[in-house]
Amino acid sequence: MLLHALRTEVAATARRLVLSRLVTGTAGNVSAREPETGHVAITPTGLDYETMTAADIVVVDREGQPVDGRWLPSSELPMHLEVYRRLPERHAVVHTHSLFATVFAASGREIKGIHYEITIGGGTSVRVAPYATYGTPELARNAVETMGQQSVVLLQNHGLLAVGPTLARAYAIAEKIEFIAELYYHALQLGSPIILPDDELLRVLEKSRSYGQPAQLQAASAGDREGSTDQHERSRAARRRQQATPG
Ligand SMILES: [Zn+2]
Repeated sequence: MLLHALRTEVAATARRLVLSRLVTGTAGNVSAREPETGHVAITPTGLDYETMTAADIVVVDREGQPVDGRWLPSSELPMHLEVYRRLPERHAVVHTHSLFATVFAASGREIKGIHYEITIGGGTSVRVAPYATYGTPELARNAVETMGQQSVVLLQNHGLLAVGPTLARAYAIAEKIEFIAELYYHALQLGSPIILPDDELLRVLEKSRSYGQPAQLQAASAGDREGSTDQHERSRAARRRQQATPG
C-alpha cells in the first residue's frame, strides 16, 4: 500500500480524536503530507473514525487529485491543501469541532491568554477566521490567512484548525487549545478571568523553544537503547517529547 506508515498514523490520530472526544461522529478531519513527493494522506469523507484503518485513508497529490485509496477524501481537502501550499514546514493538519473551542468560534471571540500554555499555538491568543461555507476555497483562505505564522486558528461558527510539523504535534495543539477554551469558558462564568500580559506570554514562548531535554542527552539516550529498542519505540519516545509542554 502506498504511504502505509503515514496512512496508519493518520488513521490512529483519527481514532484518538474520537477517544478523547475532540471529534464526535465524522465532524473533523486529519491529514499528513509526505515531504518528498508532496502527497497528502487524508481521512475520507463521511466515515466513522472509531474503526478507521490505513486502508480507509485516501492519498491525493498536491493539487488534490486522487493517487490511491477507495473512498472520496474529506470535504475539507481544500483547507488542508492550502495549509501545505502556504506553510512548507507544516506537514500535518488536525481539524475538529471540539465543544469549547467551537463555543468561542460560534461567538466570534478569540481565546485569550488565560493560561501560559496557550503559547503551544505559537501566539498569545487564538484568533477567529471569518466564516465561509465548509469545504470552500474561501474558508481555506480565511483560515490560513488569519492563522498567519501561528499553528492554530478558530473557524467562526465552525470549529478549530491546528497544524504542526508532525501529527503528534498538531494533535497536541488541538487537545491543549480545547482544554484552554474550556478553562476560559468556566473562568468567564466566575466573572473576570485574568489575562496574562503579552510580554509575559512572549517570554514563555521564548522559554518553550529551549524546553525539554538537551539534544545531546537525547542522542546519548537513543544510542543506549539502540540494541534493545526498535525504530517504532524510538519514534514513540520522540512523539512523547513533542507532546510535552513547558511546566
Ligand atoms: Zn469542519
